[in-house]
Amino acid sequence: MGSIAERLAEIRERACLSYRRAAGQPGEPHIVCVTKNQPLPRILEAIDAGATEIGENYLQEAIRKDVFALCESRGVTVRYIGRLQSNKYNAILRVFDAVDSAGPELLERLHGTQDRGAQRACTFLLEVNAGEESQKGGLTMPQIRELAAADAPWLYEISGLMVVVPLQATMQIRATIYQSVSVLFHELASDLGSSRVTLLSMGTSDDFELAIEHGSNMIRVGTGIFGPRSPSQV
Ligand SMILES: *Cc1c(COP(=O)(O)O)cnc(C)c1O
Repeated sequence: MGSIAERLAEIRERACLSYRRAAGQPGEPHIVCVTKNQPLPRILEAIDAGATEIGENYLQEAIRKDVFALCESRGVTVRYIGRLQSNKYNAILRVFDAVDSAGPELLERLHGTQDRGAQRACTFLLEVNAGEESQKGGLTMPQIRELAAADAPWLYEISGLMVVVPLQATMQIRATIYQSVSVLFHELASDLGSSRVTLLSMGTSDDFELAIEHGSNMIRVGTGIFGPRSPSQV
């Protein structure tokens, strides 16, 4: 299947091609290398191959692996893309550069914080629960529209949206979801300011080209770069 460097290069090439086709102009999407369950040497391999953003799902795992020192020294952004628990908000805000899986509770708390000196995180995406799955985090599209209509003040904290589709969703369902989230994203950009709302994180190893076709400018790729995840690696 090739090395991490070869797979990353291939994904970047495919992603750029789709992006240029969809946007009708040069440029490239953000590629977030999803490093959950990957030990530090493999993460370093991806960084050496040019990865500039990584995504971690668990606070403790990221601390244990010590990804933060490595990433800081290499100028790599560390994004939190996992489920959030309120007892970990402060710790997450202290160590991550971005939280892509933010919900109203975190954003409201953030909005009420005057002194952000202890906080490192400065980019927040609102997670969209597009499949309306009760066990998933994030807000549904109707909930987000309602909050935007009510002009919820904490919405001004967000730089965009991250959508997680149901695991079993067919490509056709994914296309429908990506298209509707893209419409919502543009509504929010026009409501909240298009210089503020710029990031649309959708698409993973299985479907990033489809997501880019529907307007994604940030993809999150794990297995496509690192191969299948084995839970016991770290
Ligand atoms: C694990 C994970 C990914 C990566 O999925 P792959 O199928 O390995 O590319 C992307 N987004 C989130 C939120 C994840 O938890």
